This record gives sequence, C-alpha cells and structure tokens, in this order.
Amino acid sequence: MSKNKMNSQNSSMLQKLSSQTIRLRVVQPPINIKRLLIEYIDKYKGQPGIICVRSTEEGNTLEAYLRARHINVAVSYAPGQMKDQIFITTNLADFRKCPVNVRFMIHISSPKSLGEYLLDIGSVKNDLPCEVILYFKQANTKKQWWTINKRIDIDNEEKIRQYNGLQSVAQYANTSRCLRKEIARYLGGDCHPCHQCSNCLYKGELDDITLESQTLIALVKLAHGQYNKINIAQIVTGSRNQRILENGAKIYEQYGALQHYSQEKVLNLIDYLIATDYLKIRQGRYLFITTAGLEVLENKIAVKRKKFSEYPLRFTSYDKELFEKLRLKRLELAKETKVAPFIVFTNTSLNDMVRVLPQTSAEFLTVEGVGKYRLEHYGDAMMAIIKDYLNEKNLKAVC
Ligand SMILES: [Zn+2]
Repeated sequence: MSKNKMNSQNSSMLQKLSSQTIRLRVVQPPINIKRLLIEYIDKYKGQPGIICVRSTEEGNTLEAYLRARHINVAVSYAPGQMKDQIFITTNLADFRKCPVNVRFMIHISSPKSLGEYLLDIGSVKNDLPCEVILYFKQANTKKQWWTINKRIDIDNEEKIRQYNGLQSVAQYANTSRCLRKEIARYLGGDCHPCHQCSNCLYKGELDDITLESQTLIALVKLAHGQYNKINIAQIVTGSRNQRILENGAKIYEQYGALQHYSQEKVLNLIDYLIATDYLKIRQGRYLFITTAGLEVLENKIAVKRKKFSEYPLRFTSYDKELFEKLRLKRLELAKETKVAPFIVFTNTSLNDMVRVLPQTSAEFLTVEGVGKYRLEHYGDAMMAIIKDYLNEKNLKAVC
C-alpha cells in the first residue's frame, strides 16, 4: 500500500475515524449485494442512508429494484432536505460540501483508490453512529484493471498511479488487520485498533491457507517479477489463455496447482498476501517476494485468514403474517409435487415476495430466485395468497 506523508488533512481524517461513530465494514461475495442492501435498509428503517454506485445506469437499475420493494429512494439531493430517505448517488461532491448525518453508507462498486474512498467517508457527519460499508467484488476490480491496461491515451506513469489506486482498495478489502489501522497505514500514520470494524469484530473461524500461500509465493519467487497478479492467478488456476501458454506458463510446477479455485478467489488471496506483507508489488503491477514471504516458504509461518461467508447477516421479513401464509402454501405445493419445500421456494424468495407483493407474472419474475419454471408451476398459487392477504388487510401494493 502506498505510504503518503502524514499531513494535516490526513491527520484530521484519522481523527474523524477515531471518533468511534464511523464503523468500517468490508463485505465480499458470496454475500449478495441486493440482500445486503435490504438488510441495512431494514436495520435502519426510517433513517437515512447513502448508496454509492459507479454509473447512472447502475443507479437506475438499483432504484427500480428498491422501489419495487416499496423502499423510499431518492436520486437528487438538496442539502438539508435528506430526512428518512435512501439516497443513491454516483457523486458525493454535494455531500462533501455539506456533510450529512446518515446511519449507513454503502459503496456497491469499488472506488478508484482508497484516497477517493476516504474523501467519500468525509461526506458523512459523525454525530450519530454510521456504518461505512465497502462491497468489494474482485471480478469488477479485474475489469477495471484491464481497462487501465488497454488505455492508450495515458502514459505509463499515470497507469501506475491508477493501478496503485486499485491496489490500495484491493488490499483494504482483503486485509485481516483492523480497517482503521489499515487506513492509518495508508495515510502514513498509526492508531489503536478500533474494536468495532468488521475485522476487529470477526469471531468466526480462520482458514489455514498456508499451502495455497506457499504455492503462490513460490511461483512469484521463480518468476522474478516478470508477472503481474492476474498472470500469476492465471498460471496457478491452469488457464488456457494463449498468451500465458506462449510465455511458458506450463514449465512451472505451480501451473494448475490451484485449479479448483476461481481466478477471483486467487486474486483475493494474492491481495491478502500483499496486505499482510508476504508479497509486494512494484510499478503498480509486478509481484515480488518479501522476507516474511520467504519465511512462509520455509514453513516458519502459518498463514490464516477469516472466511468472508461468515459475515453475520440476519434476513427478517417485515410482515411475518404474510410470510407464514406463503410458507404454508409452499409446504402444500411441496407435498403435491413430492419435493422438499426449499426446492419450491427458498426462504429468501418468500421474504422477497413479502416485499414485492407481486400481482402480475412480470412482477412475480422480479422476485429473488424466481424464473420461468417457478412462475409457471407455482406463480398463480402464491399470487392468489398475496391477493387475498392484501384484500383482507385492505392493502394495495404500491408500485
Ligand atoms: Zn478495527
């Protein structure tokens, strides 16, 4: 991670993060981003939150998704007017000029650098506790990486600056250290562990990843800095990429050694090894081994990391009565068709039905986990239950 000299702006950011009201979180797949958003909106029902998206198109899709679930969302912002809404934005410039009190801020796409992320955090007032969540998806970062790589309108120096930016976020997302300490390190300072970020609060088991780490570190050592991290991930997963094969990837005994892993998972592992100082990166791209990395190869250090799927999420339905009616219908359908209830619909689908309150086939298809088969086989039965319930309660689905 690049070390910036600690200036007054950096130390005031660190002071803000030390206020104990900013709670840093990192979430990664397999947790589904839409379910994560619903979880946070539910948790802070009736209180404001910000969702940061990368493009207007992404924002529009998300807005439609949340509105279909009867969630009050806004896309234009007038300072001081934000009360109980969920605000979707591509640009926090207005918020930075006039910071707001929100209960959560979620970036559903990675910022270009940790520095940019910190500017965004600066747009949150710290009067009330606020959860600041980064949803990190390695596949998106890989795409951003290739976009920079292909650009011909910027010079090498600018490319390195942009690679370093992406790398700073990837390391923040994959470190096991206290997230506040990680930011302090990035800013060129230090601080005590915060005891309230997602890493400090992690109580789950740790995966022993020593063997996988040794495979990666050994390959980096042999390659003498000629490969970037995507190349390394391609080699160990046994990629058939022509350029990699032409460059002699198969001569390494590590070729295909981690073929049961996805490239994204290996890239996360590499970012973890960089964040933990077992590997280092130069010129924004090329991987090298460190002294600590050598100790891993010599079996002097065991490498362990947390499991991302362990992040505690509680999905609750806001209308238990309707959920129960749908659950009983599901049981009936399961008995009729002689399959297990979760084959008919998962609990996630039932919860989402309670939110969407579908009344037409098109609406039913927007429910999580519903495709043509489930619509055709079970759609009418479930929609009849919802319709009766709405009539009984004198409710109308608001779209
Ligand atoms: Zn912490």
